[in-house]
Amino acid sequence: MKYVSTRGGIAPVGFTEAVLMGLADDGGLLVPEHLPQLSDETLEAWRGLSYQNLTLELFSLFTGDGLPRADLKALIDESYATFRHPEVTPVRRLTDDLYLLELFHGPTFAFKDVALQLLGNLYSYISQQTGSVIHILGATSGDTGAAAIAGVSGKAGVKICILYPEGKVSRVQQLQMTTNHDQNVLNLAIDGTFDDAQRIIKELFGDLAFKGRYHLRAINSINIVRILAQITYYFYAYFRVAEQNPGAKIAFSVPTGNFGDLFAGYLARRMGLPVGRLMLATNENDILVRFVQGGEYRPAAFRGTYSPSMDIQVASNFERYLYYLYGEDAIRVRGLMDKFRANGFLSVPSADQERVQADFAAQSVPNQVCLDTIGQTYSEARYLLDPHTACGVAAAQTLAAPGEITIALATAHPAKFGEAIALAGLEQTVPAQIEALFGLPQREQRAPATGEAIAERLTVFFGAASDAAQLHEEVLEGERDPVSG
Ligand SMILES: *Cc1c(COP(=O)(O)O)cnc(C)c1O
Repeated sequence: MKYVSTRGGIAPVGFTEAVLMGLADDGGLLVPEHLPQLSDETLEAWRGLSYQNLTLELFSLFTGDGLPRADLKALIDESYATFRHPEVTPVRRLTDDLYLLELFHGPTFAFKDVALQLLGNLYSYISQQTGSVIHILGATSGDTGAAAIAGVSGKAGVKICILYPEGKVSRVQQLQMTTNHDQNVLNLAIDGTFDDAQRIIKELFGDLAFKGRYHLRAINSINIVRILAQITYYFYAYFRVAEQNPGAKIAFSVPTGNFGDLFAGYLARRMGLPVGRLMLATNENDILVRFVQGGEYRPAAFRGTYSPSMDIQVASNFERYLYYLYGEDAIRVRGLMDKFRANGFLSVPSADQERVQADFAAQSVPNQVCLDTIGQTYSEARYLLDPHTACGVAAAQTLAAPGEITIALATAHPAKFGEAIALAGLEQTVPAQIEALFGLPQREQRAPATGEAIAERLTVFFGAASDAAQLHEEVLEGERDPVSG
């Protein structure tokens, strides 16, 4: 399988190169040259596969001969052995027409683990196979950073720097990052929002000389592996729920920020999974909902909410969707993205808007409704939702059509968001792994939200290391400030 850019400006690259390239060299995003199409017979044959084997079948369509099947199988098995549930992503029935797809059984209790355990192992594998240096640079609204660090911590040949918005992630999210003291991990708390962090890393990845000199690799969902690894659970959940409800129409509701998770569902549908509607649920940061409803994609002021991992204005995967909306016409996408950059917004004509509305139903969930949904679901079903999942459930309740069954993606464990659960007036038992974080010392460095300030720190952290074998031995030269409390 080859990968091309949504902006059409690069020659097609193979799987390994696509993983390493992250952001396409022309500033676009990588997408598969062709989307595999699955027949009914194939779907039938895959129905009973374990999560791991289903991932193997799906993923090998995208690696092609870029990765030997036996190696891929070993990577997948290793990645999902860290999950606490034998089914990896089990499905739970909440009511007759609402199921939850629990995606939080990985090491950091959020769905990001599903893709980042695999990507972490893949990076380490590629580093060993090719002798390449892997220096990861990522931005996080909270969960990606923790999951990426958990995915590569202690692995040979890999160093990681994570930017996150100071004071805008939950306590547990911060602790999961800052209590990791591996010398291959650098946490940078920036004085800004997640959008600032994402803009900075896109700038640094866009500076090809800098990217090349420091071997920068991506773990954000600009990396296509993130998306591909998330396709599996749409199939897996669909098979489970369809089995219990023969002939039913099945929709998904997805708490959305950067649009990576929902976009994976969109690809699953394009590949032939017969899902019905895809519901796009946001919190008060509703740029995508406004786009679906009004055809205009225009960032608004940042709103702090109870679901910080979705406090995002500019959704990077949106560009991948535009690519498919416009029939894989890269020239058109490039034009739209140029307009977005020049004017600060973009809009699509009303005929296209109808197609968008055929692809997605969308709902923005106000802060209070999020808390009310947590309270209500607990009192009716004795199930404690985290605030992100609550947005998806609230949207499903509003958008549900008669006779339709919805699978709402449960993207995080409530213990990660104790602040919101307390505000909803509920108590919870916190898993021991999370409880333990509170007693540990933290390490982080603060930085202004500018490209230069971050580049300076990366120059020290990633230094001149060019030999993957040495990387692991290397001593960190940059001082990291211990932060108490
Ligand atoms: C990242 C995240 C989301 C949003 O996923 P996107 O792929 O960015 O749309 C939702 N919920 C939780 C808990 C997350 O960590």
